[in-house]
Amino acid sequence: MSQIRSMSQEIFVHLAPKIPKKLSPEWTRFVCMSDTHNSIDPNKYQVPDGDIFIHAGDMTRVGMIEEVRETVNWIKSLPHEHKVVIAGNHDLTLDETFYEKNWNRFHYNKEDSNEAINIIKNAGHGIVYLYENSFTIPHKGIQIWGSPWTPEFYEWAFNGQRGQFLKEKWGQIPQTTHILMTHGPPNNILDKTYKGDNVGCKDLLERIEEIKPYVHVFGHIHEGYGILEKTWESTENQDQDRKKTIFINASTNTLNYSPENTAVIFDFPPLNSL
Ligand code: 5GP
Ligand code: MN
Ligand code: MN
Ligand code: MN
Repeated sequence: MSQIRSMSQEIFVHLAPKIPKKLSPEWTRFVCMSDTHNSIDPNKYQVPDGDIFIHAGDMTRVGMIEEVRETVNWIKSLPHEHKVVIAGNHDLTLDETFYEKNWNRFHYNKEDSNEAINIIKNAGHGIVYLYENSFTIPHKGIQIWGSPWTPEFYEWAFNGQRGQFLKEKWGQIPQTTHILMTHGPPNNILDKTYKGDNVGCKDLLERIEEIKPYVHVFGHIHEGYGILEKTWESTENQDQDRKKTIFINASTNTLNYSPENTAVIFDFPPLNSL
């Protein structure tokens, strides 16, 4: 997969090393990574330049303050104007309620959840930490909504029960969302584990079918790294005329926690041209 070019709604997707120039300065270049799990050495892993950096969770191994701090410092150092990040199930301290109850399953000494959350929320340098809320890119109006929740698997952070609980979570995604960020995939989309099971969230897929975001970025299932374009059948709903969604599983780490997958880049046209 040295180069994949996908075209949809005039959104272009690129994979390193072949990254062409943006069509024009009005376009917005997004650079997507996920599941870096502390393993990125900034001296070895070259993050491509762009306008917006996206990280879809699992920044750390077990969410210790030092891990959060180091990852945040690395993201701060990137040249992108805005860096939009969400947590994942491994970023334990960022889930305050979970950590309060479960810290001793993972850590010898209890860390301060509030400190971890403050580090990422108040990082500055263009870092935007999303937790079930939106960020609208200034002057461009592109709306990004993000959430760390994934279906339960061995009781990690931000784990929610399939069914009613997660359905309500996804119910909060605004209909107007252009770009969706979740830590995990929707069902049947870049969600196949090495064992062959499609473990993505069915409730998330149902919500996506209502919203049809232009792009959905996630990670979590490391071995599902890749890009998939889905064309929607036309619906009766006239004001929902989006015809395609590009799905990006941006897991930087492989199943063996080796940072071998390149960042996935997409170029988003000015909203009024879509
Ligand atoms: P992580 O622990 O980093 O969240 O996920 C690492 C790996 O655990 C994934 O690449 C996948 O193989 C496995 N995994 C994560 N979540 C699930 C799940 O819900 N079901 C199954 N069967 N495997 C999962
Ligand atoms: Mn992961
Ligand atoms: Mn794990
Ligand atoms: Mn994960």
